[in-house]
Amino acid sequence: MSISLRYVAAAVLLAVAAGTSVHAQDNVLNLYSARHYQTDQMLYDQFTKQTGIRINRIEADDNALLERLRTEGRNSPADVILMVDAARLWRAQVEGLFQPVRSKVLEERIPQNLRGGDEGQGAQWFGFSTRARIIVYNKVSVKREDVATYESLADPKNKGKVCTRSGSHPYMLSLIGAMIERNGEPATEKWAQGMVANFARPPRGGDTDQINGVASGECGVALANSYYYARMLRSPRTEDREAINKVGFVWPNQETTGTHINVAGGAVARNAPHREAAVKFLEYLTSDEAQAYFANGNNEWPAVPAVTVKNPALQGMGKFKAENVNVTAIGKNQVAAQKILDRAGYK
Ligand code: FE
Repeated sequence: MSISLRYVAAAVLLAVAAGTSVHAQDNVLNLYSARHYQTDQMLYDQFTKQTGIRINRIEADDNALLERLRTEGRNSPADVILMVDAARLWRAQVEGLFQPVRSKVLEERIPQNLRGGDEGQGAQWFGFSTRARIIVYNKVSVKREDVATYESLADPKNKGKVCTRSGSHPYMLSLIGAMIERNGEPATEKWAQGMVANFARPPRGGDTDQINGVASGECGVALANSYYYARMLRSPRTEDREAINKVGFVWPNQETTGTHINVAGGAVARNAPHREAAVKFLEYLTSDEAQAYFANGNNEWPAVPAVTVKNPALQGMGKFKAENVNVTAIGKNQVAAQKILDRAGYK
């Protein structure tokens, strides 16, 4: 009797232990992230401290993450996906890699134009920081007033001066998607033709290469995301500071529609095994503290309007009027944008 009781007790203990371990296993969040900044670790540690949910991080660039999600399909362990640019987030959405989320916190904190997807079923992705696409110009060879708008870059007066990265890169597709929304397709196609006619060199390299091209004088004017400019401003490297001294920048379209804005954002994965934790994590990213870490990690602005960050480079660049185009529209228009680029020979 006492022996069988001992067996029962042992069995109960085992069951409790197993139950505990299953529970502990459940208290995790699998995060697929295209971000990799030092401040992100603080962000994750803080979330774990507040919620007890441990974060398993898988980091890769945006394309590698998308490929992985497609391959894993229904068996994907991904809970939350962090990516950059509305063009990429929208693509992942239409491929069915996300699921709609209804959350009072997200709806109250993230402005409507920075939430992507069909609002009827709940947004599918949320911008957590914003970046601007700015115009940089050579202070010696170009007059600021000649390059004050995106449209002006396609003007014949800037012939032989314009540099950009590939037109098919998400940063360019999103900019052009926003232009289609503001100006319509025919005007945007004319603009793309004007850009091709004005190239100083065929599109190549990243945004930092465009800034360096402007500094060296090979390009008179170029497009770059604001955080590349801010990063060079803050850089301890002498060559970065020398380059940035030769370059001026403008907030484009201040007299009209405002400067083009894009997002780094996140979503809950379609088959998230830990859905509740995933929503909790997205909500956490809208907190004042998380917003500051998230934005500062890459010299960006918080998506939550009430949050301000102390970033000397961004503060030095000053305030500007931002374009008010919905990120969903920017995403949807990228198909039309790519067609326009192909017809214009904008590689
Ligand atoms: Fe970038």
